[in-house]
Parts: sequence; structure tokens; C-alpha cells
Amino acid sequence: MTDSCLFCRIASGALPAHKLYEDDHILAFLDLHPIRAGHALVIPKSHYPWFEDLPEALATQITSCAQRLARRMKTLYQVERVALFYTGIHVAHAHAHVVPMHHPHDVTSQAYMAEGLEGYALPKQLPAAEMQDIANQLRLT
Ligand SMILES: [Zn+2]
Repeated sequence: MTDSCLFCRIASGALPAHKLYEDDHILAFLDLHPIRAGHALVIPKSHYPWFEDLPEALATQITSCAQRLARRMKTLYQVERVALFYTGIHVAHAHAHVVPMHHPHDVTSQAYMAEGLEGYALPKQLPAAEMQDIANQLRLT
């Protein structure tokens, strides 16, 4: 755990999050800037900067959690596919993105190719009440 790491602080409970799943080793919660409603992050509670640093068992736990979330997202949002990816952008604490895909280009850079990098902005935050509703629907039991 490092005090300067945003995700370590969320994992320890020092910062709030809309939690979807938690056990001794991993935590899933809603991304504050969702590409699509339901966009979730799954992180190890221990600090590993990059996904390739994760012990294999921990990486498997994260993937299994993402699979469970994806099945739930397909039912909830009636989408054909759910994306799972690690980018390492913004926070250097390994985090898997799980995104319900309503459009094939939801997680590609199509918009930036069309508009240029100046067109880049973080996806908008959703109202807190809406985030709470989404978390209640997606939460794994
Ligand atoms: Zn960390």
C-alpha cells in the first residue's frame, strides 16, 4: 500500500467507491468516468504497478471477477459483448477495465482518428444517484 496511490487508497477504504465486489485480494468498483454506464474496474488490493507484475493466481481472480461482471452486464444492458482490457493509463496500479459495449468502437480510438487528439476528454461523470443505482444492479453477491 502506498499513500500516494489512488487505487491503494480505494482498496484500503480510505477513499469511497461504488463497490461491486470485494474479497481479501481484489476489489471491483465503478469507474468514475465511464465510457458506458456500468464501466467497472477490477484491481488487486496489493500494489502492483502493471498487470504483467501480477502473480498468476491474482490475475486469474481478477479475470474471473470480470467474467462474472460481464455476464451480468450482458443481461442488464442486453449487449452482445463486453470488453476487458488493461491500459495502465492514469493510475499505475494494475486495473482491469470491464466495459459493456453498445458499439464496436466504444473502446477504440476511432473518435480521435476523426477529431484528432485535441478531441480527447475524459468521459463525463454520472450523477451520484445514478452511479448508486448502477452499482446496486451490478453488484456481485
Ligand atoms: Zn496502488
